[in-house]
Amino acid sequence: MSVSLNSKGYYRAMAPLTDKQLEHFQASLESLREELGHLLAISSQASDVVILDQSRVGRLSRMDAIQQQQMSQASRAAYRQRLLAVDRALALLSEGEYGWCVTCGEDIDPRRLDIQPESVLCVSCQQLTETVV
Ligand SMILES: [Zn+2]
Repeated sequence: MSVSLNSKGYYRAMAPLTDKQLEHFQASLESLREELGHLLAISSQASDVVILDQSRVGRLSRMDAIQQQQMSQASRAAYRQRLLAVDRALALLSEGEYGWCVTCGEDIDPRRLDIQPESVLCVSCQQLTETVV
């Protein structure tokens, strides 16, 4: 069994993920990246439309239009944040650091990565950041 040291200084008996799993997560991340880019492109058009059409929104009241625009801005912020996370995960992947928690160095459960391939924190570290916020 070979022991390796990752850039965080943690000794590793072996990589947490197989090459096949890494390939799978890389593909998921890349399609997620594409999808988010697409969503951002669509939603940017949507928020433009609200601004331009505010004088003739028909049955939509001005408040509805504003609310809709705020929602679209909120989801755009979420898409952008997720896109950053995806880029970060892809960078970790290319450095061979993917699958380890960036905070504590523990392995991230592959089932977690299946649901959220952009995860760079293990469940306990994620929970910590959520309780802080
Ligand atoms: Zn952790």
